[in-house]
Amino acid sequence: NKPSFESWFKSMKPVSFDGERVVLGAPSPFACEWVTKRYGNLVREVLSQHLSKPVEVSIIHLPPEKHPVLAEPPMEESAEQRDGPVAAALPEPEPVPLEKPVLNPKYTFENFVVGNSNRLAQAGAMSVARAPGQSYNPLFIYGGAGLGKTHLMHAIGHYILQTHPRLRIAYLSGETFAQQYVGALREHRIDAFRQKYRNVDVWLVDDIQFIAGKEHTKEEFFHTFNALYQLGRQVVFASDRPPRELHAMDERLRSRFEAGLIADIAPPEFETRVAILQKRAQIEGIPVPEQVVYHIAYAVEGNVRTLEGVLISIAARASVHGKPITLQLANEVLARHYVDDKEVPVVPTEQAVLQAVCQRFGLTTQDILGAQRRREVLMARQIAMYLLRERARMPLQQIGQIFGKNHSTVLHACNRVKTSIHKDKEITSIITDLNTVLGN
Ligand code: ADP
Ligand code: MG
Repeated sequence: NKPSFESWFKSMKPVSFDGERVVLGAPSPFACEWVTKRYGNLVREVLSQHLSKPVEVSIIHLPPEKHPVLAEPPMEESAEQRDGPVAAALPEPEPVPLEKPVLNPKYTFENFVVGNSNRLAQAGAMSVARAPGQSYNPLFIYGGAGLGKTHLMHAIGHYILQTHPRLRIAYLSGETFAQQYVGALREHRIDAFRQKYRNVDVWLVDDIQFIAGKEHTKEEFFHTFNALYQLGRQVVFASDRPPRELHAMDERLRSRFEAGLIADIAPPEFETRVAILQKRAQIEGIPVPEQVVYHIAYAVEGNVRTLEGVLISIAARASVHGKPITLQLANEVLARHYVDDKEVPVVPTEQAVLQAVCQRFGLTTQDILGAQRRREVLMARQIAMYLLRERARMPLQQIGQIFGKNHSTVLHACNRVKTSIHKDKEITSIITDLNTVLGN
């Protein structure tokens, strides 16, 4: 009814929505508790109805001065309300001075592309961010350089800052920890140093491999971890190698890692590389043709930072010279900075591919593009589709249009050829020959 709406709901603010959980902010701890108890189910039902899917609802205390999303003028609130205990079962300890963590605003969950290579790490990070201290603890993420470890650590930080604005978060690298520890020892400030890190709610330590092998730092690190762990605080580590390979790390620490979740990130597979490039292009507003995206995704494997670097360099070059982003430009940039001259992939045109295939099979273009179902024609057609995709970097849909087929038929054909290579001698030799004709 109207009076309840006026007293409780009018002053509430939306904080976040990740597709599953709606977080709302209420101006006082009491309001949090009251609304959760009295109206929690109603709010959940109404929101689920409006969003056409079941959602969870959390109501958190959102002190106006720490407004995370809305830039409205702060409301008046008494000190008593502000410092009162928070309802809705969120841990909200006494504030201790700690600088806000410095996080890259682009490193959010939203901007993180999920694929098989990073699915577990992303899910673990998300779970920890949703329920700090109550999910996996510690969470240990490892993987090679440029695969998204730091991105995920920052994403956890952003998410918790938004949903639990009063939790104290520390993000630092193993190197920073080591430096600060040594500095504190030298300047006899070890107590302050300990106080600083042993009072955080969320401890995000990146690149912990730096600590391995440093005798005293390692010991201090272990004690800090233990203190936090015993208090049920959330701890997240990232490293370029798995715990078992952190030889110089304390054995006690390594066994503790194994009590939580250890998640690796592998180099992204082709489809994920495409999605990462598309996302990045969208974020930066770079108009890049699909074919060029494919080309980069084929040419650069293994490191997302390099992948994105290539895209940004191409975009910069295009914008400086006032040229559109083309395959040719992409190859110029690749050859100049990223790959050996010899390794810059040649991208044949559609026509070159069709011609080469026809020649090899002794067929005409009409044969291949037509509806004949002779074994040889079928094979030539599938190989042509495969080469248009892999070598000419053409989108599935566009290839489909050439042959009057739909996108999944083309995908199927490409996959068949791909799996036959190395297994079927005839196909292997045909592809090898055609690749030579098309230039490598
Ligand atoms: P690491 O810490 O593992 O060396 P970073 O987290 O610094 O790697 O990632 C390198 C770059 O790649 C960053 O710009 C990051 O945003 C980007 N990146 C990595 N993985 C992804 C992903 N899955 N989706 C979007 N961007 C990613
Ligand atoms: Mg990193």
